[in-house]
Amino acid sequence: MDGRISSDEMVSRQLEARGIRDPAVLAAMRTVPRELFVPQELIARAHDDTPLPIGAEQTISQPYIVARMLEAAELGPTARVLDVGTGSGYAAAVTAELAMHVVSIERIPELADAAARRLRSLGYAGITVLVGDGTLGAPEHAPFDAIIAAAAGPDIPPAWVAQLAPHGRIVLPIEAASGHQELIVASVGDGGSLIRRSLGAVLFVPLIGDAGLRRRRPGRR
Ligand code: SAM
Repeated sequence: MDGRISSDEMVSRQLEARGIRDPAVLAAMRTVPRELFVPQELIARAHDDTPLPIGAEQTISQPYIVARMLEAAELGPTARVLDVGTGSGYAAAVTAELAMHVVSIERIPELADAAARRLRSLGYAGITVLVGDGTLGAPEHAPFDAIIAAAAGPDIPPAWVAQLAPHGRIVLPIEAASGHQELIVASVGDGGSLIRRSLGAVLFVPLIGDAGLRRRRPGRR
C-alpha cells in the first residue's frame, strides 16, 4: 500500500466532510482524473488534501479549495466561465463538467501549452486556453456568468466587473497589505455596486499582472 487516496475517498473525506453539498460539484470532482494533471512523480499523491507543485513555481490547488470556489460560483449548465490561472488545467476541467464553455487564461506559456494539450487529449472540447494577463479578463469572449481566479490579487480587477454578465459572480482570493488573504465571492447588486461575501482565509500564489500584485512569491497554493 502506498497511501494512495481514490477520488471517491477524496470527495467524502475532504469535501463532504467539510460541508461541500452541491451534488453537481461533488460529481464533477469525482469524474475528473486529477492524477493526470500532476507531474508523473506525484501521481500517488494526486488526491492528497493539499496543493502540489506543477513546475514554473506554480501549483495545482487543493481539491477542497477547487470545490469551494466552484460551489460559490453557482454555475448552471449554460454558464460561460472565465477561469484565471489555468496552471495544470485541472480546475478548468472540473469547471467544464459544470458549465457550457470555459475560457481559461494563463500568463506562463509553458503551463498554458501543456494544459491545452492535456485537456485536448482528455476530450474537453468546451475549454479555450489563452496565454495572457488574466487581470484584463478576455474581452473577446465576454460576458461571463462567472469569473474564478486561482491566484490572489489586491482587489477585484475592474475589467472583470465590466465583463460580468448580469447576475454573474466573481470568486477570487484577495490579499490585504498585511499579506492576509481571504476568499471572496462578489456579485453586482441592483444599484450597480459590488456585493462581497467572505468565504474565509486562504493562501494562494499571487495574481501577477496589470491589476494584480505585480510581484512573485513562490511556494503558495
Ligand atoms: N487552477 C490551476 C490548476 O487547476 O492547476 C491552479 C492555478 S495556480 C494556483 C495559479 C496560476 O495562476 C499559476 O499557474 C499562475 O501562473 C497563474 N497566474 C498568476 N497571475 C496570472 C495572471 N495575471 N493571468 C493569468 N494567470 C495568472
